[in-house]
Amino acid sequence: MKTLYIFPHPDDESFGPAPVIYRQIQQGEKVHLLTLTRGGATKVRFKYGYSIQEMGEVRLQEMQNVKSILGLTSMTVLDYEDGGMAQMNPLDWEEILMKYIDKIKPNIIVTYPIHGISGHPDHIAIHGIMKRLFCALKLDSNYDFLKRLAFLTLPTPEGLEKKGAHAKVRSTKREDINCEVTLSSGEQEKLKESLFCYETFLDVIQETGVIQAIGNKVYFEFFNEEVKVEFLSEALPK
Ligand SMILES: [Zn+2]
Repeated sequence: MKTLYIFPHPDDESFGPAPVIYRQIQQGEKVHLLTLTRGGATKVRFKYGYSIQEMGEVRLQEMQNVKSILGLTSMTVLDYEDGGMAQMNPLDWEEILMKYIDKIKPNIIVTYPIHGISGHPDHIAIHGIMKRLFCALKLDSNYDFLKRLAFLTLPTPEGLEKKGAHAKVRSTKREDINCEVTLSSGEQEKLKESLFCYETFLDVIQETGVIQAIGNKVYFEFFNEEVKVEFLSEALPK
């Protein structure tokens, strides 16, 4: 089983999916991470007086530790413009992504849902680009290996309580969630470990309350599937 996670920024893999990645690796699955930018444009850079390029280098460095903590099969970090994804031609993006899909031949691809969770334009752009590409590849028998397109998400809180960690977060209706992974306490520790690799982001991790917001659950939507499962690689379509 091979899964390819595609995210725009360093730390996107840690804000939620890290413990799921960890379990996949522990179970003998292969997990590849493709990050499209170095995330240098974050406003966190002003706190340290870094240029976009310097901040990108710092985040790239911090990310190396995530690779070893999770035991990723491979990690590739490209250097496209942070915040510029939506301005680029989506056909160019498809060409870039195809290079990695052809090389890795993933059974599952994971990226952001339509709301992008944080609503970041890069998150929303990669959703649209990857969804179109997935649909195109489903028509091509050379890509029969590709079975599932999954979107990392969070459920809409009961009673739509919009406070604390949920204030800026967008979510998916519970009925549209296909996969609810329950984390062990060891896996919850892995979430913290991978988040804490981003030393320049410790304030953001605190402010967003991401650790409390995730708790012991990670959620995914599956594109065009009706199943309800407890793990990403369960009940894969034929
Ligand atoms: Zn991001």
